[in-house]
Amino acid sequence: MKPTPKNGVLDIEIYVPGKSRAPEGIKLHKLSSNETPLGPPPAAIEAARRAMADLASYPDGQASELKAAIAEVHGLNTANILCGNGSDELLGLLCQCYLAPGDEAIHTEHGFLVYEIQIKAAGATPVVAPEKDRTADVDAILERVTNKTKLVFLANPNNPTGTYLPFDEVRRLQAGLPGHVILVLDAAYAEYVRRNDYGAGIELVSACENVVMTRTFSKIYGLAGLRIGWLYGPEAIVSTLDRVRGPFNLNAAAIAAGAAAIRDRAFIEAAASFNAEWLDWTTRAIEALGLQVTPSVGNFVLVHFPDETGKGAAEADAFLTARGFILRRVAGYGFPNALRMSIGSEEANRGVVAALAEFLKSPSA
Ligand SMILES: *Cc1c(COP(=O)(O)O)cnc(C)c1O
Repeated sequence: MKPTPKNGVLDIEIYVPGKSRAPEGIKLHKLSSNETPLGPPPAAIEAARRAMADLASYPDGQASELKAAIAEVHGLNTANILCGNGSDELLGLLCQCYLAPGDEAIHTEHGFLVYEIQIKAAGATPVVAPEKDRTADVDAILERVTNKTKLVFLANPNNPTGTYLPFDEVRRLQAGLPGHVILVLDAAYAEYVRRNDYGAGIELVSACENVVMTRTFSKIYGLAGLRIGWLYGPEAIVSTLDRVRGPFNLNAAAIAAGAAAIRDRAFIEAAASFNAEWLDWTTRAIEALGLQVTPSVGNFVLVHFPDETGKGAAEADAFLTARGFILRRVAGYGFPNALRMSIGSEEANRGVVAALAEFLKSPSA
């Protein structure tokens, strides 16, 4: 007799976060978890500091200050917003509340790994929809819907590919889903996207009973360390998740810093412009070296290496790490021979390109 977890839990592969260590004495450029090189807005740091003055008290369990700031900036009703300890928590709550053993949830071929983990943790079955040109394929998703399907996860743009579905396609996906299936639009990188045909999903959530959108403060807002995410959805879904979440799931510093950060629109605009410039520069520079880069609208690029021995992603990763540039292996996402690089500071971006040029010229191991 021994303690046994419920079915599915031991099928989960443990999530391996991006590395964050460089060799002794070498300057570290962490480009492995899509954090911003610009840090948070100064007002957010100041707000978190002020929250430290009262650590003996529980935080506001409703995160009212943060919800009010989100509602104001995005023009939403607070009753449709739920805040989470990172958007990861919200993805988990969706699975916990809507999936039971025997149920299915769909994610795309190269979709964010947290979906599969949370689906399995709920005891349900993940169903993979193939992608086309490393991009979500609406028809492939719809073909896999059954009466057991409860959730469809779409990261738009997706991590680690950086590709996106135009809004018309997202609308077509929603229109093809039965009413009992929730479409989860994970818009972690929405602030970075500069395409006229993109929408994070706010209009669709407002118009439908079965669509939710998740957002994060971990990327453009520079607050990954505080763990802040939020969900916008129909009241029936928001109040369902609200019953199951931890009563104090956001800490006091997170509530204060998030509210200050989202109000600093000028800072976020500047961060998006910085990214657009360096996303473009980095993509072109890496392509000029002869490597293939998946076209990205996020703050990262997926770089593909040749299959020839000695010049693959594993060797490139070791070569870059030795020089302080920490990128992300993405074999777990179905890309054994690619690395994902977050757009970093000018120094980091130029440094990676120079190091890759040196790597490609060096004699094969
Ligand atoms: C980074 C990321 C998130 C954000 O997760 P948090 O828990 O809010 O830090 C969510 N979805 C995707 C696709 C991501 O890449």
